[in-house]
Amino acid sequence: MDLTALSGDGLYLWAPRGAAGSWGLANCLLITSGDDTALIDTPYDERMTRALIAAADRTLPAGAPVRTIVNTHANGDHCFGNAFFPGAEIISSQASLERHCREISPQQMQYLVHASDPANPLGWYARERFGAYDYTGITVVPPTVTFNGSYDFQVGDIEVRLLEVGPAHTAGDLVAHLPGQGVVMAGDVIFEGDHPVHWEGPLAEVVRAAEAVLALDAEHIVPGHGRVIGPDGVRAYISYLRDLEGEIRERHGRGLGAYEAAADILAGGFHPHLGAPERVVMLTFIEYHHLGEATAPIEMVDLATQAARWAYTHHHATVAAG
Ligand SMILES: [Zn+2]
Repeated sequence: MDLTALSGDGLYLWAPRGAAGSWGLANCLLITSGDDTALIDTPYDERMTRALIAAADRTLPAGAPVRTIVNTHANGDHCFGNAFFPGAEIISSQASLERHCREISPQQMQYLVHASDPANPLGWYARERFGAYDYTGITVVPPTVTFNGSYDFQVGDIEVRLLEVGPAHTAGDLVAHLPGQGVVMAGDVIFEGDHPVHWEGPLAEVVRAAEAVLALDAEHIVPGHGRVIGPDGVRAYISYLRDLEGEIRERHGRGLGAYEAAADILAGGFHPHLGAPERVVMLTFIEYHHLGEATAPIEMVDLATQAARWAYTHHHATVAAG
C-alpha cells in the first residue's frame, strides 16, 4: 500500500482499509518539510509499520527519517509501531502516558488472539477480528515528551498544534491541527464508517471533543479510523453520538440492564449501515457506568467480553437462520 497525498505539500496519509467492522486499522499522517519528517500515530504491528516505512521511503526524498512521532492516545493501534522508529522523539499528553499502564499489552493481545479458547465467545471474537495481527517482538515505547493542554511545534515550515481534548475516547486524547493546511488529525475521538468505541466516555464528553475539532474550522478531518471527512461529517457523527446517548438513557430510565439495553437498541436497527455493531454494547456499558451503575465494567477485556457475547450470539443466530 502507498501513501496518499493530502491537502497541499508535505502531507501524506497512510490509510489501511479492511472489511467493515475491522479493528486495528488506524490512519497515520506523515508530515514532511525540508529535511524534517514527523509521523502522527504509528501502526498496530511490525508488518504494518514496516510497510508504512517502505511506502515513506518510496515517497520521501532520501535522508528524511522520522524525527518526531505524535501519539493521539495510548491504544496499541496508534502507538505499538513506536518501537520501529529508534531515536525518534515521541510526543503525547501526560494523561496518555499515565494511561499506558492500563492498556492491554502486546503480550496479552498475542495470547488472547492466538492462544485463547476459540470455542469461547471472546476467543472466537479475538481470532475473527484481530487474527491478522502478530504482536510478537513489539515493545511498548512510551512518549518521551508530554504536555497538558496544548503543545506547538514545527516540521520544517509546517506548523503543528497539538490540543488535548480528552477525556473522551481515552483519558489522554489529543488532536493535531495543521492550520496552514486546513487539516485536523482527530485520532479516535472521531470514527467514520463503523460504529465507534470510546473507552473512557461518557458520550457527552466525546461530543465535547468532537465539537472542539469542529471549532478548529478545518476543511479536512482525518478520523482515527475510516475515510477523511469534512465539517458536515463531524456534525453527522455528533448527531450519532447524541442519538445513542438518548437511546441508552431512555432504556436506563426504564430499568433495563446494560446488556439488555444494548441488545434492544441494536434489535431496533440503530444506524445499520455502520460496521461493528457490537461496539454499541461496549458504549452502553460505559454509559451505564457513568450513570452510576458501578457494576457495569469499564476495563477493556470485560467490555470486549460483553461485545463478543453479542457478536457471537448474533453471528450464530444469523448462520442458523441463513
Ligand atoms: Zn484506534
